[in-house]
Amino acid sequence: MRHPRNSYNGAVPANDTRFTNQTLLFDADDTLWENNIYFERAIAAFISYLDHRVHTGEEVRERLNLCERATIAKFGYGLTSFRRSLIDCFEQLSDEPVTPDKHQRIVAFTESIAAQEIELLPGVAETLTALKARHRLILVTKGSDAEQRDKLNRSELAPLFTAVEVLAEKHEAAYRDVVARHGCEPAKTWMIGNSPKSDINPSLAAGLNAVFIPHDFTWVLEHEVIDRAHAPQTLLELENFAQLSARF
Ligand SMILES: [Mg+2]
Repeated sequence: MRHPRNSYNGAVPANDTRFTNQTLLFDADDTLWENNIYFERAIAAFISYLDHRVHTGEEVRERLNLCERATIAKFGYGLTSFRRSLIDCFEQLSDEPVTPDKHQRIVAFTESIAAQEIELLPGVAETLTALKARHRLILVTKGSDAEQRDKLNRSELAPLFTAVEVLAEKHEAAYRDVVARHGCEPAKTWMIGNSPKSDINPSLAAGLNAVFIPHDFTWVLEHEVIDRAHAPQTLLELENFAQLSARF
C-alpha cells in the first residue's frame, strides 16, 4: 500500500512550523563543541598510570566520580577542580604518598585537556549563523569563567551571541536569574543542550521550553532522567544540532 502523501515519515515538517522570534539559550560543552571526550581520555590515561593492584579500572573510576562530586561541591567546575580530584583519588587509592614526580605526571593529564583545539560539533557554525538572523542567541554555560570564555573565543562563535553567561551551577534559580537579567519571555525562551541534569530539567522547572540534543559521551555526572514538559511548555529532542534550523 502506498503511503498518503502527507503521512509523517520522521522528517521535520516544512518551514511554516518554525518558531519565530525566540530567545535561544545554548549550552556550550558537548552541545557546541567536544569537551567530555578529552576528560574521558585523560581519565583512561590516569587509570592506566595508577595501574592499581587491588582495584579494577571501574572501581578507580567510581572512586574518581566520588572525588569529583566532593571537589566540585567545594571548588566548582573546571580544570583546577579536575586536577585536584585526580590527586585526591590517587592519594586515596595509593599506598605511597604523591611524590613531586607523580604529581607532575598527574598534572600532565589535565594539561592535555587544556591544550586541546576547539572541535565544533557538526553543523554548529552554519546553524548558529542561520539562527542568529531570526532569533536572539545567548550562551549559557557553567564552570570556570576564564576557561569557558577562552574556549568561546577560540571557537570563533562569540560574535553570534548577544550575551554570555558563565554560571557556577545551572539549577532552576540560576535559569530564573538569567531570564530576569535578559528580560526573556519564558514562553518564547528555549534552553538547548546535551545535559538532562544541567540543561533540560532545571530550565523546564524554571518554566522555559527546552531542546535536548543528546551526545554519546555525556559526562556521567550530568546523567538524569528527563522530566516531562507541562503544557504549554514544549520539549523537543533532536538527533543533531543542524536539525535546529528546521524548527527555529
Ligand atoms: Mg553540555
